[in-house]
Amino acid sequence: MQQRPAAATRQSTIERKDLHRLFEVLRARGYTVMGPVARDGAIVWDELSTPDELPAGWTDEQEAGRYRLVRSDGPALFDWTVGPASPKASLHPAAVTLLNARREGPALRLLECVPQPTRLAFFGLRACELAAIAVQDRVLLGGTPTDPVYRARREGALLIAVQCGRAGRTCFCASMGTGPEVRSGHDLVLTELLEDGRHLFVAEAASERGGEILAELPATDTTAAESGAVQAAVARATAGMGRTLETEGLPALLARNPEHPHWDVTAARCLACGNCTSVCPTCFCVTTEDFTDLAAGLSRRVRRWDSCFSVDFTYIHGGNVRSSSRSRYRQWLTHKLGSWHEQFGSSGCVGCGRCITWCPAGIDITEEARALRQDQRGKEGSRGNA
Ligand code: SF4
Ligand code: SF4
Repeated sequence: MQQRPAAATRQSTIERKDLHRLFEVLRARGYTVMGPVARDGAIVWDELSTPDELPAGWTDEQEAGRYRLVRSDGPALFDWTVGPASPKASLHPAAVTLLNARREGPALRLLECVPQPTRLAFFGLRACELAAIAVQDRVLLGGTPTDPVYRARREGALLIAVQCGRAGRTCFCASMGTGPEVRSGHDLVLTELLEDGRHLFVAEAASERGGEILAELPATDTTAAESGAVQAAVARATAGMGRTLETEGLPALLARNPEHPHWDVTAARCLACGNCTSVCPTCFCVTTEDFTDLAAGLSRRVRRWDSCFSVDFTYIHGGNVRSSSRSRYRQWLTHKLGSWHEQFGSSGCVGCGRCITWCPAGIDITEEARALRQDQRGKEGSRGNA
């Protein structure tokens, strides 16, 4: 088939063997390519040199408190959903040095660490991950002041999505309205197809930058059959969602129930380990620590991720505001699904399911919300029958 430069405004089909060109184009434009790799038994994000480093022939099994990366028989590069890591670690790093201080005689010299602009191209973002980046944009750039560390990384970022062709047992992006179809926030979107012995990617640009990059790739016009296969892949992922969350009226329901006995049931299981906040692509809380080397006359101020499950997170003069696991779990869930709306204009949850999979106690945010709702419905039913 005659190949042509891909057009910016329509679907174009790229052969798997030509995917390396995309990486070459990205590097020629000064981007460091970040993407998924299979490592240590999980899909994680790392810097990539070639598409051959992508997790070919791997799929995943997920359930509450369980994750397994297992071999598949096929050559698919994206036959898995999301692993524990997300682009959050690249855009909002787990640890950042804010300030160095050095003693120079009687004086103290402060060396502020100014965030350097970076050009990161994220390849392989899922729809829920794009939605999570949009949430972090609102949190970290949407108000005053903005976060200079995030801004330096986010402004130069190129977002290349790959649509899900299957959903995991802990996924519920469909009920959060964030996936699995990629609708916004991206520069370029690809859908992987294995059709009639061919390994293809159907690509569509969504920004000027994405269109320019796509135009540099060897591609053919996407056929009607290939377009249909893209729609079928998204429909398959939608139908395969392992979880659902009823969001209607949820903020009000949570606000009405701060003393509900179900919080005690969850707290009896919760280890307050903070795994859920570490893996969550929207959690953004940080703390600041100083490290001092008196002998060398050096001091360093570091910002690092913190968690609302940490004992010290809410320590203020004289005590800890949330000293029990019950109050910490309630705060986390109520913020995610309730007060986040008031604060940032959307839910703080994008339905990726990571907090369910990676909770060692198998605590499930969808089940906890459902328990409150069922109790509420039960009460309303009793009143109706009275
Ligand atoms: S809900 Fe699960 S992951 Fe989160 S702090 Fe509790 S035990 Fe850890
Ligand atoms: S709360 Fe859980 S399901 Fe929602 S975005 Fe965070 S990790 Fe994903």
